[in-house]
Amino acid sequence: MSHYTDEMLDNHMAEEHYSHRIGWLRAAVLGANDGIISVVSLLVGVIASGADKEAILVVAVAALVAGALSMAAGEYVSVSSQSDTEKADLEKERIALEENWDVEHAELALIYQQRGVSEATANQVATELMEHDALGAHAKDELGLSEIHSARPLQAAMASAAAFVSGAAVPVLLVVILPMENLGIIIASSSLLLLAVLGAIAAKTGGANMMKGALRMATWGFLAMILTTYVGLVFGGMG
Ligand SMILES: [Zn+2]
Repeated sequence: MSHYTDEMLDNHMAEEHYSHRIGWLRAAVLGANDGIISVVSLLVGVIASGADKEAILVVAVAALVAGALSMAAGEYVSVSSQSDTEKADLEKERIALEENWDVEHAELALIYQQRGVSEATANQVATELMEHDALGAHAKDELGLSEIHSARPLQAAMASAAAFVSGAAVPVLLVVILPMENLGIIIASSSLLLLAVLGAIAAKTGGANMMKGALRMATWGFLAMILTTYVGLVFGGMG
């Protein structure tokens, strides 16, 4: 009779789902930060160069689209190669099980022994798990592949692009709705504020100090904007 109550099991499952959600939230927040920093620093540079509103709008939309696609492409390529590696490992494992069942059994039992169970129990567990789903047991306990970690390149690419757009949309919308007067200052300061908030959220999700997280993100954003403004002023002065 198991001495775990249903409540204990529910709490454990909730914990596991919570860490999964945190992972996603953190990736989304960091993606949004990328969107804000790369688009707003580009815009303040172009504004500093003396470009007119139409040119600034074109740059804003082009930067959003280019950034989202490059994030999606990067994520798709990196997750696809992870998926390729996983598939190759699984295929190798499948062949090894076909050709050397006993060796694979001993290997799995050793893994359980190293986790602290007796040799007899380890052998019994390995036998029962391999009878039930040999490849699944080796994938999970030897290769560390579980449902959570199975790569979904397209989903990851879409999530990354969406996170970027959710950040980049803020400075772009400000360019659309605001007049030219003080445009650079307004989008720079509101983006810095947003970066600080997102930096704090990212820190919170990682269990780190929120103030430090906010300052860290705002400082990098500020640095990027200062440098691109300088570039814009230099090129603008040449015109
Ligand atoms: Zn194996």
